[in-house]
Amino acid sequence: MTSGSFDVIVAGLGSMGSAACYELSKQGYRVLGLEQQSHTPHELGAHGGQSRIIRKAYFEDPDYIPLLEKSYEGWYQLEAATRKQVYHPCGLLYYGLPAHPIMQGVKQAARDFNIPLEPVSDKQLLSSFVEREGYEAFVEHDAGFLLPEKAIRLLLEEAGKKGAALHTGEKIISWTKQGEGIEVITTKATYHSKRLIITAGPWANELIRTLPIPLTVTRQIILWVETDQFKNYSPSHFPCWLIASEETKGAWYGFPALDTTECSGPRGLKLALHYPDSPAHPDEVNRNITSDEIESVKRAAMAFFKPAGNKLIAAKTCMYTNTPDEHFIVDHLPGYDGAVTIACGFSGHGFKFVPVIGRILADLAINGKTDLPAGFLGLQRFSNAV
Ligand SMILES: Cc1cc2nc3c(=O)[nH]c(=O)nc-3n(C[C@H](O)[C@H](O)[C@H](O)COP(=O)(O)OP(=O)(O)OC[C@H]3O[C@@H](n4cnc5c(N)ncnc54)[C@H](O)[C@@H]3O)c2cc1C
Repeated sequence: MTSGSFDVIVAGLGSMGSAACYELSKQGYRVLGLEQQSHTPHELGAHGGQSRIIRKAYFEDPDYIPLLEKSYEGWYQLEAATRKQVYHPCGLLYYGLPAHPIMQGVKQAARDFNIPLEPVSDKQLLSSFVEREGYEAFVEHDAGFLLPEKAIRLLLEEAGKKGAALHTGEKIISWTKQGEGIEVITTKATYHSKRLIITAGPWANELIRTLPIPLTVTRQIILWVETDQFKNYSPSHFPCWLIASEETKGAWYGFPALDTTECSGPRGLKLALHYPDSPAHPDEVNRNITSDEIESVKRAAMAFFKPAGNKLIAAKTCMYTNTPDEHFIVDHLPGYDGAVTIACGFSGHGFKFVPVIGRILADLAINGKTDLPAGFLGLQRFSNAV
């Protein structure tokens, strides 16, 4: 069955795809968004699990900070357009040795971009963390958390209101360039468009066969532990936290206890390790978490965060899609004369950028270029491979 022609087809309606649909439909383009799962948001990709940290003192690379400024604007705009809150500015506490590369990166970014960081002296707040010789603690007050499922739902609702066709339960099987445009074949129909944007998250390897670099999908574990002090650990009393540990690669991080009448998911303190875990295929990821895995995560987290030892409430899996340098890829796919734009490899830190990535994708697909400073996310950096 042949079913219509569009300006842009967006492949994958998770985090980045929903933002691309929103942006393009706002600009008046005929958009078709296709999602393989029966509904979206969902828990089988990269965006499940109730909450995502947003922060600006970006230790990974200061080039992200101008994009973060735009992203914050984008979150505020979405909230204004929908009169719904997705960003909760509860602050983020950093805890680590002053010379740790993460702490150094945070302080450098804060100095260079005038991002306020305040040393923590509140004994009550610090009492949740294991006292560590020589560690420093400071808070970035403008940081906090986002509600990913709610945000995706709102982006898609708004896109739908502006005329985007959004199909769930429809998997893209293949796509090809046909003359100036693109033909997309799904489990249900064949579509044509001038442009294709691929935002397939952990399935990017399947939909971008000619990607010149490897993407490694990893299975990540998230835990929720119990607290009987909901008020003390609520977002108005307790911040998100990130621990730069010299004992583990990556960083431990966690959230306050969220109000589950506002967001889905377990009612407790969520925590996890930000570091790529074991490689997995997105269709075969083992969703069962063994008691040994849970114990080892809890034990390691307890070395820093005292409530990590409290009773486990829930454990879930989610997926990172990692590039070789752990920086995102947002670019045209080489060989298609600008007709195909890709956003992938968000390496476990992409959600906070959703609104700005949506804008960049719309710019690249429609105008062939963007004024936003996103050149560092291009494929050119892997020029030996490209
Ligand atoms: C445990 C965990 C914690 C994280 N914490 C943070 C954090 O604190 N802060 C932060 O900023 N980021 C964080 N991230 C990263 C962030 O969530 C991801 O970078 C972001 O969600 C990636 O978005 P995406 O659009 O690439 O993938 P997704 O949101 O997974 O979207 C991809 C979509 O494409 C669909 N799709 C794939 N193939 C097809 C096909 N053939 N046909 C149709 N549809 C298809 C999928 O079903 C899916 O819905 C975390 C990630 C994880 C896993």
